[in-house]
Amino acid sequence: MPALIQCHLFMSSARSSVTPEKLIRPEILALHAYHVPPASGMIKLDAMENPYLLPQALRDEIARLVADAQINRYPDAGAHQLKADIRKVTNLPAGMEVLLGNGSDEIIQLLAMAVDKPGATILSVEPSFVMYKMIATFIGMNYVGVPLAQDFSLDLPAMLEAIKREQPALVFLAYPNNPTGNLFDADAIKQIIQAAPGLVVVDEAYYAFARDSFIPHLAQYENLLVMRTFSKLGMAGLRLGFLAGSTAWLAQLEKLRLPYNVGVLPQLVAAKLLEHHDVLLAQADSIKQERTKLLAALSAISGVQTYPSEANFILLRVAKATQIFEGLKQRGVLIKNLNGGHPALADCLRVTVGTPEENQTFVAALQDTINQLA
Ligand code: PMP
Repeated sequence: MPALIQCHLFMSSARSSVTPEKLIRPEILALHAYHVPPASGMIKLDAMENPYLLPQALRDEIARLVADAQINRYPDAGAHQLKADIRKVTNLPAGMEVLLGNGSDEIIQLLAMAVDKPGATILSVEPSFVMYKMIATFIGMNYVGVPLAQDFSLDLPAMLEAIKREQPALVFLAYPNNPTGNLFDADAIKQIIQAAPGLVVVDEAYYAFARDSFIPHLAQYENLLVMRTFSKLGMAGLRLGFLAGSTAWLAQLEKLRLPYNVGVLPQLVAAKLLEHHDVLLAQADSIKQERTKLLAALSAISGVQTYPSEANFILLRVAKATQIFEGLKQRGVLIKNLNGGHPALADCLRVTVGTPEENQTFVAALQDTINQLA
């Protein structure tokens, strides 16, 4: 055998002995991948999407825009038009900037990477959005989750104590919280911002369905940043989130952002949709009205405990949650089973508010499943 081929064979056999188990960090090996269940043909009420399509005239306008888009070119790395539109629709206070992410998930990752000094800690509450902890694990940061009170409100003394003890570089507070749906007490959050030695990120993913926001307070606290996503407002498929705050912080974070993280098509389509922000807000209003009706219908079912919501989903507690979740699936309705995820969420389910028809089908399927299991 020629020496060159022999050498090549030797090298490839040496390479094949490198297994993922040997190379990948143990905390990554121990992780379970974020599971997105198949939903084809189902009534999809598991992911807090807006159930409404856009009006036909607007869809036609978008089709024309997309047809003319220069997808042979890289996107505008600074996304100037889109950022200007975002500043306008959010009434951003003077002196504040925005940073765009490929969904707000990417912004959480970027924030974590920026403060990832040896020993640095991310702190949040539990139960809350699982990505805060997952991203801390991805990049090898410490994570501390402070339990919420029994009614899912903030346990302020426990938070202040944990902040003093852990000195977190980053605190994430989802406002409203996912998966509980409630809005934390704004004064408690202000105390946390004042006590925190690092950044506090108020995650307003569900802002369109809530009655309050921290954007007007941005100028008041130098360690406050507000993060939002357009995913829940009808643009989940575009993948677009943003972080608002002072240029002092955002200029540093911009250095970590990959230059073309928001593509040509998301930039174009989101800018067009923000021109029609009123259409999206009207859809959010319908969702809020449906939320009230759904909450009433669920509360009327015996054996179902509901929690108040300022988001586009409702948390409920039932007996035999996993069996009910499976029963709903068999009846063509996909929601989120939270049972087994966190002790405080034992027997909990989370349902996204859908169209009136979807909600009616869900309530009937729930009633039917409960009757069958009784
Ligand atoms: N924050 C919260 C509280 C969320 O619930 C979600 C999505 N479930 C996100 C951020 C991420 O949203 P996206 O990546 O779609 O912008």
